[in-house]
Amino acid sequence: MAESLGIRGIGELTTFDPAHPELLTDAALVIEDGCVVWTGPQGQLPVTDAVVDVHGAAVIPGFVDSHAHPMFAGDRAAEFAARMAGQPYAAGGIRSTVARTRAASDDELRSNLARLTAEFLRSGITTFEAKSGYGLTVPDEERSLRIASEQTTETTFLGAHVVPQEFVDDPAGYVALVTGPMLQACAPHARWIDVFCDRGAFDGDQARAILQAGRVAGLGLRIHANQLQPGPGVQVAVELDAASADHCTHLSDTDVDALAGSSTVATLVPGAEFSTRSPYPDARRLIDAGVSVALATDCNPGSSYTTSMAFCIAIAVREMHMTPSEAVQAATLHGARALRRTDVGHLRAGASGDFIVLDAPSAIHLAYRPGVDCIDRVYRQGHLVHERSPL
Ligand SMILES: [Zn+2]
Repeated sequence: MAESLGIRGIGELTTFDPAHPELLTDAALVIEDGCVVWTGPQGQLPVTDAVVDVHGAAVIPGFVDSHAHPMFAGDRAAEFAARMAGQPYAAGGIRSTVARTRAASDDELRSNLARLTAEFLRSGITTFEAKSGYGLTVPDEERSLRIASEQTTETTFLGAHVVPQEFVDDPAGYVALVTGPMLQACAPHARWIDVFCDRGAFDGDQARAILQAGRVAGLGLRIHANQLQPGPGVQVAVELDAASADHCTHLSDTDVDALAGSSTVATLVPGAEFSTRSPYPDARRLIDAGVSVALATDCNPGSSYTTSMAFCIAIAVREMHMTPSEAVQAATLHGARALRRTDVGHLRAGASGDFIVLDAPSAIHLAYRPGVDCIDRVYRQGHLVHERSPL
């Protein structure tokens, strides 16, 4: 790669620079040594080693997917079909993926992750989080995180996904395992700890104990909260200053107020409601209350088997009453905030050179053209990592 790369002919450039909140038109962008060093009118584009003209396309920051479960084997297409035929969704379906994941070889997990990583890049996701949670034994959780860390720095220990079959009569024993030997084995490969605090999974006291143990082990905190029913998850998240409370489908006014007065991001994952035929979270209520809202894929084989952030944006706009620009911000800048990252999710000078050239004149097209692949070229750290139609 040349040392500096200029992108010219940008019809609409989204930077999320608070100093220049409006979209830039007829714009250009310069990447040097993997980072954004300049944005502005294309007439003022500095001399660079190489220049690419995108002929009026819109350019946005690479998507930041702050909630994904790509460490698994097998799929659950039959369960999806049964659910669409009327069976309800329950957290226990996770156990069938646990059995498949435990039986898989390291290479099988590695190649499934590589396949999903390629899908993420094709859909414009340049930063993604990867949770464990389908091993639920010390060695199976440890290897999931070790393999995940080959592809992303945003690794999350989710030993507290569900209580595995062998501990059904001894949930306290499983919490002791998660907060003891399993945490010890997993912490070196993880940046975050997460817990599924909901019906059929872990209660508020268990979630608090698990997150506090993770914090002592040096991990940041995130939580699956209030997906299936109202509950204590959001309150626990705010109380412990978790980076993100995820799902947030069933919230009380107290929950919304707590989030609004905190630095905890509400990460909404509408692929899960889509795939379980459930009511969507009320994004409008959260945004109007001043909560920072992120969008994520929740990519997992049971309840949201998508790697398409554009699909999540389209649902968020159509079904959750977000504006197109709010949805794009939720999938980029606020996704980064949910991972407490300041180097991605925007294109201000100093940001990582992670961006998407859309096959569209405006980012509105991501929601306006649902189901259409508008992701033309994807750059990560200034390198072209996906090119749908070679120039
Ligand atoms: Zn999840």
